[in-house]
Amino acid sequence: MINEAMKELGNKRSIIREIFEYSKQREKIVGKENVFNFSIGNPSVPAPEIVNKTIADLAHNFNSIELHGYTSAQGDIEVRSAISQYIKNQYGADVSASHIYMTTGAAAGLAISFKALCVNDDEMIIFAPYFPEYRVFASVNGVKTVSVNPLENLQPDLEDFKAKISPKTKAVVINSPNNPSGVIYTQETIKDICSILTQKQKEYGHPIYIISDEPYRELVYEDINVPYILNYYNNALICYSFSKSLSIPGERIGYIAVNPNMENCNDVYAAVCGAGRALGYVCAPSLFQRVAAKCLGEVADTSIYKTNRDLLYNALKEYGYDCVYPDGAFYLFVKTPIADAGQFCEKAKKYELMLVPADSFGAPGYVRIAYCVTTQQIERSLPAFKKLAQECRQ
Ligand code: PLP
Repeated sequence: MINEAMKELGNKRSIIREIFEYSKQREKIVGKENVFNFSIGNPSVPAPEIVNKTIADLAHNFNSIELHGYTSAQGDIEVRSAISQYIKNQYGADVSASHIYMTTGAAAGLAISFKALCVNDDEMIIFAPYFPEYRVFASVNGVKTVSVNPLENLQPDLEDFKAKISPKTKAVVINSPNNPSGVIYTQETIKDICSILTQKQKEYGHPIYIISDEPYRELVYEDINVPYILNYYNNALICYSFSKSLSIPGERIGYIAVNPNMENCNDVYAAVCGAGRALGYVCAPSLFQRVAAKCLGEVADTSIYKTNRDLLYNALKEYGYDCVYPDGAFYLFVKTPIADAGQFCEKAKKYELMLVPADSFGAPGYVRIAYCVTTQQIERSLPAFKKLAQECRQ
């Protein structure tokens, strides 16, 4: 007998992948330009030139054996030192190289952090709407996810948050800028989350960790500060990713930064290393560790995302859709004009609009639109959105 839970996970594609694959089929039938695929969060702007230059430079000038060899399990020391220095300069947090663990993107960072911190029967709080994979990474460790409802503006409902914390709560995941809503948690929200947790830690006499999932930190379109969680809460760690900031999601590179002010920081860091080992990661890709270290602070041209956001948001509001203005990431989260988001997405398919129902994001009655596409795709899709709104009104 094999592991049935894994079999089920493998057989059941995520709804995002499901719709993405359907789009590909439709493209073959009606032509690529006639399908409006808004299903997947794959960056649509090229990596900054410095990424390609650095790859070429490393390929020609760096010791080839070392470049393609294993690094230390936690990542190359020079790479971690460069990241540590960057964090100090940029955010003022004193994270040393020995608090950084290189990962294959934020996904691995999350899976490793969940395993490092949680044991069977622990609970982990996630704020709806949330990235669906949190539930997968938690459940394989026997950890129960407890979802907190959002307010109308899609910031977390802190009354509900307070009510959901229990003696079993081991960790809380935050993700801002958020996938799927594009919302950035305000500084006030972050401070409130931290003070509620500080109080609960005292009450229960054990740490409750914050895991901050940060693939979209740099994708911010207004003059908004995204609070750096290590400056607000001691028992925090960050799962950072270069996937979206550098437009290199296929290269699989990111890191975990453990707050040195954490009460049992060295134990947590050791558990992170242990979890990475247990999950078989060995080390993060050696070449891209070095590329990332040389490209710290660089960001792909996100002006296209801003153009897309404005175009889509303004048009959809004009057609009568109800959506919260997204300040970051590259998603628009729309309340469906009919109650069942799945049915709404089926109707949308008639117009070749590929949207993702948000039930698996913990937000029934919403759809996610990934606007990391060409601006032309958005322009050409607008009549379809208009007709869909009209059909739903009838
Ligand atoms: N967390 C969130 C909220 C995401 O949206 C994604 C990817 O889309 C990830 C984590 C995983 O990203 P990575 O490519 O860094 O593994």
